[in-house]
Amino acid sequence: MTLTPPPLRNDCFSLPAGVDWTPVDEALALLRDRVRRVVPSESLPLTKALGRVLAADVIAKRSNPALPNTAVDGYGFAGAVAEGAHVLPLVPGRAAAGLAYEGAVPAGQAIRILTGAALPAGVDTVILEEDVTLGSGEIAFRGPLKQGANTRRAGEDFSRGAAVLTARRVVTPADLALAAAAGVSEVEVYKPLRVGVLSTGDELCEVGEVAAPGQIYDANRPMLLALLRQMGFLPVDLGRVSDDRAALRARLNAAATEVDVILTSGGASAGDEDHVSALLRESGALQEWRIALKPGRPLALAVWNGVPVFGLPGNPVAALVCTLIFARPAMGQMAGTNWLQPQGFELPADFAKRKKTGRREYLRARVRDGQVEVFKSEGSGRISGLSWAEGLVELGDGALAIHPGDPVRFIPYDSFRL
Ligand code: AMP
Ligand code: MG
Repeated sequence: MTLTPPPLRNDCFSLPAGVDWTPVDEALALLRDRVRRVVPSESLPLTKALGRVLAADVIAKRSNPALPNTAVDGYGFAGAVAEGAHVLPLVPGRAAAGLAYEGAVPAGQAIRILTGAALPAGVDTVILEEDVTLGSGEIAFRGPLKQGANTRRAGEDFSRGAAVLTARRVVTPADLALAAAAGVSEVEVYKPLRVGVLSTGDELCEVGEVAAPGQIYDANRPMLLALLRQMGFLPVDLGRVSDDRAALRARLNAAATEVDVILTSGGASAGDEDHVSALLRESGALQEWRIALKPGRPLALAVWNGVPVFGLPGNPVAALVCTLIFARPAMGQMAGTNWLQPQGFELPADFAKRKKTGRREYLRARVRDGQVEVFKSEGSGRISGLSWAEGLVELGDGALAIHPGDPVRFIPYDSFRL
């Protein structure tokens, strides 16, 4: 379980020969096929496990409920009882949650019992206190009542020895409740995936600096670092590097010793100043995936000193979409999860749109009054639209003519843990 698998082969991202524009689903299938877990596991106290990936099934150490108990406040006795009026004498004392009633309740008698209390010996049925008239030392009520009414069977939720959580799952707050109820205080989880984020481009300057004319603020790095943290990875800020091949090489060499995967943005196309793709190509490791996707230009994939590199487009809109659609499930698999499929919902469009066949499109979108709105511009330089949106609309690869009211697939940002 603690063994770390070997690094990826240099050519693991190569596409089958003859492919020109690769459909999104094919690209995803290839990534799924070729990317492996790289993180070792460790044992953690349950309280520290939120957001981590389970490396082993969680096995219940006790059943829930551990003992048969009552689901309501009322009076317990041996059932069933027939139709009609009944009067039962009460035994002294009561059974309450956490306080075992030591004695046994004789047949034909009843005991005061409170929600969560284990059923005393002789009790298998409970009547609600609202359905009872209380006299002095006795109760009166009307039947019929089935045997077992208002009680919970031992183990009806889960039994000791059952796998209540399965390996590869990301631990949620509800999972903490489940594991705690099962008496589990330590869980085996994977160490977080370390993801380096590097921005490239001579035009970039740091937010907080004074931008010279012609400079732009580095918007991708704060976005990607925050996104990675929210996705449960360990973000590592690799800073910015100018369009300089030697500097980029040095940065990648250093990064490859301290992170498990690298996300770069910018310089990923085939232009003169696209040093990321040029350097990766020089090293013999570059695979340019021309994916039939908008927004998004070629996604540069490579393995640098054993570490996968996702060369994202510089454009923040394209960088975000490529990260959500491609990098996230691949990184998840590297981090030990199953392949992550975002949950989408079919909802009526409140917009009209035509698209040609041959590529998938993602639109910045949000839901208002049960209908899907899209951002006023599809311009991929419009960062304001990323923030306006609360999710993406996914339009299939084929030709489409969408009219208001037609169903479209909306994927909330939450589905990506954005
Ligand atoms: P590139 O992929 O380097 O050609 O960049 C494409 C576009 O994205 C250009 O307009 C860049 O200025 C812009 N860009 C690149 N990196 C960033 C960044 N980190 N933040 C904001 N915009 C960027
Ligand atoms: Mg650039």
